[in-house]
Amino acid sequence: MTEAGVEPVMTLDIQQILSGSEGRNYELHEAHVNPQLAKALRLIGFDKSYTKASGSYLWDSGGEKYLDTLSGYGVWNLGRNHPAIRDALKSFLDEEYPGLVQMEAPLLSGLLASELKERVGYDLNKVYFTSTGAEGNETAIKFARRATGRSKIVFAGNAFHGLTNGALALNGSDVFREGFGPLLPETQAVPFNDLGALEKALRGNDVAAFMVEPIQGKGVQIADEGYLAEASRLCKKHGALLVADEVQSGMGRTGEFLAIQHDTDARPDMVVISKSLSGGYVPVGAVLMSDRIYSKVFSSLDRAVVHSSTFGQGSLAMVAGLASLKVLDDDGLMDNARTVGDLLGARLSAMKDRYEFLHDVRWRGLMIGIEFGKPSSLKLKTAWTTVNSLNADLFCQGITIPMLQDHQVLTQVAGNKSKVIKLIPPLCFSEADVDWFCEAFETVMTGLHTFPGPLWEGLFRIGKNALAAKQPLNQAASL
Ligand code: PLP
Repeated sequence: MTEAGVEPVMTLDIQQILSGSEGRNYELHEAHVNPQLAKALRLIGFDKSYTKASGSYLWDSGGEKYLDTLSGYGVWNLGRNHPAIRDALKSFLDEEYPGLVQMEAPLLSGLLASELKERVGYDLNKVYFTSTGAEGNETAIKFARRATGRSKIVFAGNAFHGLTNGALALNGSDVFREGFGPLLPETQAVPFNDLGALEKALRGNDVAAFMVEPIQGKGVQIADEGYLAEASRLCKKHGALLVADEVQSGMGRTGEFLAIQHDTDARPDMVVISKSLSGGYVPVGAVLMSDRIYSKVFSSLDRAVVHSSTFGQGSLAMVAGLASLKVLDDDGLMDNARTVGDLLGARLSAMKDRYEFLHDVRWRGLMIGIEFGKPSSLKLKTAWTTVNSLNADLFCQGITIPMLQDHQVLTQVAGNKSKVIKLIPPLCFSEADVDWFCEAFETVMTGLHTFPGPLWEGLFRIGKNALAAKQPLNQAASL
């Protein structure tokens, strides 16, 4: 009998469920969840069943160990299944704490808000909590409109701000938008890093906000030095708000808490955080904003909940957030991101002279883009042209597939039709992990610079199968 007088019930035996259904992942997805994704993963041999995870590693049902450079699209910055966050959540569950009372001011969100403000700065004094990154950006769109009395939103070409209706209107990729219109009106794209185009878009003094990722997730495009500072100056001059979408680049990934903090003179009016704010365990997000913006939205007592969401300050999310910020500090993860990111970036960069396909390596901390392009030698040019004519997404899969199959390294292509592989591993990535990655990458590069050769044969086979199955490969690309 519990204190509340309730008979203890038989709990769900999750261990029995997991072991009893082991290996049924793809069959179940094909039947009930997302058959297309399951099919695409099978096609490229990514149809693994992972059963254990820790730090930067995954293990499959056969006990094989994998290096994870994807972090679940950037939710595992602090390492998969960090014990300190897990223990905080477990002990909180045992408290029988009253979450989501709604008609109260919750303690935990107040505590997390004050911790976040300390790390973000910029006098962004109020925090609105969300459950996802897209919800954070939807919030920013609404708040910018209300605070400025304007409706137009400017965004950077190639942007990714999420896939809900408003965020989708600020998405730089037609693949995501097609068939879902009409989307939010009065949005305008400007090329990333182009201050002239931004100034032109702002000149009419009718823009509510310029929303921008300081490092774009798609293609890992890094803001030029001074771009964000000048963008904030231009926004201010023209009465628009600068919204920094730090959903992927925040939480220490680049070696600073926020990527925009690398540009010391930049001054965002709103900052959107999500993903690894919960250490990967619970959906959570936060929008930090100035008092001025807050008070325009929540402008009177009867507007106190004019923007809200039921799960918004959920207790588990708040506890996970508090524990995650502590781990970020205690484990020195921002320093590690900087040091190990520089090591990995420099080692990859040094390979450029040896591999014709390898055109650029760019990085900030542990957000790394490896860009491939047309080779110079005639023989490899033939291979390049053939592969691209089969499928625009195929070349990079020619790297991700052997990286996984032959070297147990999980990597991702940074967007559709992209020639960039993105690395966003957990921030606890070690020097030994850098060795593992670089040795695998060198072997794959050497294989791809041998034409004809087995890697090319495998790639052409996949391309032809994809064509025959009318199966694009881009479902396996990421954000
Ligand atoms: N903004 C950025 C920069 C992202 O990378 C993402 C997701 O990848 C989002 C927003 C959307 O976040 P969510 O998938 O939690 O809605």
